[in-house]
Amino acid sequence: MSQTGATENVTGASDYDVVIAGGGMVGISFALLLNRLSRANVRILVAESFTVPASTNGTPVYRPSFDARATALSYGSRCILENLGIWNTLQQHATSITDIHVSERNRFGSVALNAQQRGWPALGTVVENAWLGNVLISELRKQPGIEWLSPAQVIDCQNGIDGACITIDHDGTQKTVTTKLLAIADGAQSGLRTRLNIGTREHDYQQQAIIANICCDKPHAGWAYERFTDWGPMALLPLTPASDAAPRMALVWTMKGERAQELLSSSDAEFLATLQQRFGQRQGRFTRVGQRYSYDLKLTEASEQIRRQIVLIGNAAHSLHPVAGQGFNLALRDVQRLAEVIAQATAECESIGELTVLRRYRERQQLDQTRTLIFSNRITALFEKPGLVVGGLRHVGLLALDLNVDLKNRFVDQTAGFHPGAALGNAIG
Ligand SMILES: Cc1cc2nc3c(=O)[nH]c(=O)nc-3n(C[C@H](O)[C@H](O)[C@H](O)COP(=O)(O)OP(=O)(O)OC[C@H]3O[C@@H](n4cnc5c(N)ncnc54)[C@H](O)[C@@H]3O)c2cc1C
Repeated sequence: MSQTGATENVTGASDYDVVIAGGGMVGISFALLLNRLSRANVRILVAESFTVPASTNGTPVYRPSFDARATALSYGSRCILENLGIWNTLQQHATSITDIHVSERNRFGSVALNAQQRGWPALGTVVENAWLGNVLISELRKQPGIEWLSPAQVIDCQNGIDGACITIDHDGTQKTVTTKLLAIADGAQSGLRTRLNIGTREHDYQQQAIIANICCDKPHAGWAYERFTDWGPMALLPLTPASDAAPRMALVWTMKGERAQELLSSSDAEFLATLQQRFGQRQGRFTRVGQRYSYDLKLTEASEQIRRQIVLIGNAAHSLHPVAGQGFNLALRDVQRLAEVIAQATAECESIGELTVLRRYRERQQLDQTRTLIFSNRITALFEKPGLVVGGLRHVGLLALDLNVDLKNRFVDQTAGFHPGAALGNAIG
């Protein structure tokens, strides 16, 4: 049902093949992949509720999705973005992870993962979300086949015989458009998912993630750290240097909510001292901390990812704990697969909103999703509960991982998005 207010039709009857609700990391990536794979043969509209400035003047623009976080892109994601033709630009703002050090505070045993040993140029690449946003949006604007509407909030979707009727609030004016398929990419709190009565399975970790950029007095040399502390797991990821050339790293530290709030309100000096005490000296002395932010952590999985004329992608379909750095990487593989299926169906003149087509996507990507969710959950569960027994097991696990090359390779393959069932973007010409 459309909301009240002036309703106008944007371009007449059956306007688009695909409308994407949400121009975040996943929505834009999907638009670009679909446009490329279909050779611009699919009419796409991306509606984003936030106002995105027309030009960024070469500076990062912070907004929802492309906020102050940094994302560790797996090698699999790199392959997809390379094939999309944006890797070279992105690389100017990115830092390669050549080694990952996994350890636990106050315990012997650590795991070192190395890119060369695996025969790869890097285990992953870290890029600040704001830069990722700049690169994705400028690429989107170069594509004549993709229409971009902002600020534009998709508020309703009604199934029809030939297509779905979508109501959009475009800067205060309501419009309706028709589309063969609505891709819902409006994030973990998906208002459209609720609107369409699509249920969720949720697990509240009762934790928050603190994120901040940290300067230190020792170059990171491409090392990333995953450290398990008595307060909760932390990841330190290598970043491009600060404006004064100081080595810089992105911190993600998950912990109980009350503790996170205390840390957020502490002074910079207190925060750095606490961090240093919990992390140790492996990365030298922490000298500065940037603005600190916190995120509530919940695992949310939509109970349905497809319906006739509707598909859920990105955080709207599944949002994972950030400790394993898998959320965007998995979503990118999802939308790569979805774009492949839709491009093929379009070439074969099939109706892309029909369940026969959408089920093909689910069947091809389900194994990857299940494995990634299990992997993220296991890591999270293992490090969620403090205590000797779990700590002891974890300790043995880390030692075993360091000794067992095959196990280590499988761990790296999973985090990199390489395993049976994972889409790696090789299909993009
Ligand atoms: C602390 C933290 C660290 C992380 N680190 C990593 C990492 O290292 N590696 C990794 O792979 N993943 C990581 N993730 C996960 C990753 O950030 C998410 O998977 C990703 O942001 C999901 O993007 P999205 O586009 O689905 O959703 P969002 O980023 O939430 O974007 C949704 C967009 O939709 C718009 N919108 C909302 N409602 C509407 C509407 N009705 N109509 C139109 N537009 C709408 C919003 O304005 C927004 O732009 C991390 C997450 C957190 C919290």
